[in-house]
Amino acid sequence: MNAIDKITLNRMRFYGYHGALPEEKKIGQRFLVDVTLSVDLYQAGISDRLDQTINYAQVYSIVREIVEGPSCKLIERVAERIAETLLNTFSMAQSCLIRVIKPDPPIAGHYDSVAVEVIRKRSIAYVGLGSNMGDRPYLLRQALRKLDRTENVRVVRCSSIYETDPYGPVKQNDFLNMAIQIETLLPPDQLLDRLQRIELALKRKREIHWGPRTIDLDMLLFNQDNIDMEKLSVPHPEIARRAFVLRPLEEIAPHLVVPRLNRSVTELWQNLKEKEGVRLWKRNNGEGEFGLFEN
Ligand code: ADP
Ligand code: MG
Repeated sequence: MNAIDKITLNRMRFYGYHGALPEEKKIGQRFLVDVTLSVDLYQAGISDRLDQTINYAQVYSIVREIVEGPSCKLIERVAERIAETLLNTFSMAQSCLIRVIKPDPPIAGHYDSVAVEVIRKRSIAYVGLGSNMGDRPYLLRQALRKLDRTENVRVVRCSSIYETDPYGPVKQNDFLNMAIQIETLLPPDQLLDRLQRIELALKRKREIHWGPRTIDLDMLLFNQDNIDMEKLSVPHPEIARRAFVLRPLEEIAPHLVVPRLNRSVTELWQNLKEKEGVRLWKRNNGEGEFGLFEN
């Protein structure tokens, strides 16, 4: 997971048309690019097989296509596009560092070059899904599809679906709940934004707090991060108290340690007093879409 091996391509040279000034777009200039990919190279080192590593010729052609391609105003944008494309193309790469250099920028003064450097990494997040209004399995399926089709998000693993008694003071129908693991290049606040857009698209109405909802998407964990923002707390503050979260999460990530609490999901589940009211509704048997849904 935490690859410390690296593949680097240094000082790739191109001619491109990026820049905020008209002459940069018209005349163009030289660009230099450095790429460092963090990859576990152990298998390739043992097997001597090209398919167990990242082919740097392929890396070069991706970078070239972007730098010699359509003009961007900012080299920040160029670097971001390179990082995104490389991480989406090479699933082996855990993270990447991209440096885009203008050796002759059109500004006065004496210096060697200007450059931007970005570091981007693949993150693992866990999301809890719940629905207790309308066609519940349809809504879960739609939410999964929409999330998997979101740019820079991939659904990696899904728990079974559980039916659970409603939680809290409001009288309402039973829920269907599940937990999923996703892989994403988005930062956590952007991921929350995507989750909320999907809730909206599936006509989630925020009327009664803790009341019935067509679909609820909660970010349970994001890497091992502790996040305390006004609109986002991760790990989800209620994670250790909710059987309908822990039961499905335990199915897909039993050994995962929850930061802050420093307990594995299994330990949290075992320590939970109120385990009742969560029943297996549909087992994930690995068949159909996300292993859950036929056709
Ligand atoms: P709940 O999920 O507790 O029933 P809501 O889905 O209505 O309630 O969420 C209310 C607010 O919780 C959202 O507007 C969101 O900004 C905030 N929030 C804080 N942390 C998280 C998180 N980890 N996942 C999802 N929403 C969160
Ligand atoms: Mg929510």
